[in-house]
Amino acid sequence: MSKRDYYEVLGVDKSASPEDIKKAYRKLARQYHPDVNKAADAESKFKEAKEAYDILSDDQKKAQYDRFGHVDPNQGMGGGGAQDFGGFGDLFDMFFGGGGQRRNPNAPQRGNDLQYTMTIEFKEAVFGKKTEINIPRTETCDTCQGSGAKPGTKPETCGVCHGSGQQEVVQNTAFGRIVNRRVCSACQGQGKIIKDKCGTCHGAGKVKKQRTISLNIPAGVDDGAQLRVSGEGESGTRGGPPGDLYVVIRVKPHDFFEREGDDIYCEVPLTFAQAALGDEIEIPTLTEKVKLKIPAGTQTDTYFRLKGKGVPRLRGHGQGDQHVKVVVVTPTSLNDEQRELLREFSRLSGEQTHEQQQSIFERMKKAFLGE
Ligand SMILES: [Zn+2]
Ligand SMILES: [Zn+2]
Repeated sequence: MSKRDYYEVLGVDKSASPEDIKKAYRKLARQYHPDVNKAADAESKFKEAKEAYDILSDDQKKAQYDRFGHVDPNQGMGGGGAQDFGGFGDLFDMFFGGGGQRRNPNAPQRGNDLQYTMTIEFKEAVFGKKTEINIPRTETCDTCQGSGAKPGTKPETCGVCHGSGQQEVVQNTAFGRIVNRRVCSACQGQGKIIKDKCGTCHGAGKVKKQRTISLNIPAGVDDGAQLRVSGEGESGTRGGPPGDLYVVIRVKPHDFFEREGDDIYCEVPLTFAQAALGDEIEIPTLTEKVKLKIPAGTQTDTYFRLKGKGVPRLRGHGQGDQHVKVVVVTPTSLNDEQRELLREFSRLSGEQTHEQQQSIFERMKKAFLGE
């Protein structure tokens, strides 16, 4: 994709003064800042303008651009380098140099989100659970309704900043008059002064409270899942909406079952005789015991699938499967009779080994020969 010329992006002439460039950029930024403009292409227009301004407002980069045009960042040309255009920054930052009070101190502000980590049992994650959690959070003070002032009184508008929360500091420099804004020191940027503080919250307008919140953990939730409980975060300020509560689910491991997504894995032991002769064995699943037919001649580490015996799918219908791995266990303590019978078995087996075993023996023989 070919890039538009930076001067064209900002709609200025090549001979434009730094002041004109700045003006042109501010106009575009105001028009396309994603906080203001929700159009689909606003973000890319904003980024384009910011990139153009970043280059054209920097004497060195501008001179380089004027001489060489767009530089492919992949070519690693000195000086330029790849730039991060990911963030937007705040409109305020952009126009007032940042660092100060960012927003109108009287504007409503959304409450903070909260995060809570909860550990649940393996089967609770599989089947879901209705539960309650206790969380500490800040809430609007009931005594003063969040104003921070003693009931019957009101916070007063700050006389220093007249409610804006900012102080202007004017400096006369060689380049002209520079106006800086900083947080008002009289009201710490609040725009208001509380003379008689509320006795409950001591002027904060908020109090810490322990809240019990009921939580519905859906069946099939997995370790690391995050549940959002809308509006159960901290209270907003000046009538702003509350934040959300995020509950992070940790699932305890199970002694027998292992889980991978919606599927369950388990391992069951088989005796040599069961594996050789075949058998029907009982397998525990998440809900019940089921019978599993082991065919004669089953090898160790063979998997059998119990369809639909896994975890209910969190989204959509049905459930996963249970995978049963059978492990043939070699007996460790034999009595005389068993030992005798196995010797007899071995003698009778002779050279009649299984085809698969033969190929293993073949490969081993070759390895002995150094092949
Ligand atoms: Zn003030
Ligand atoms: Zn209060």
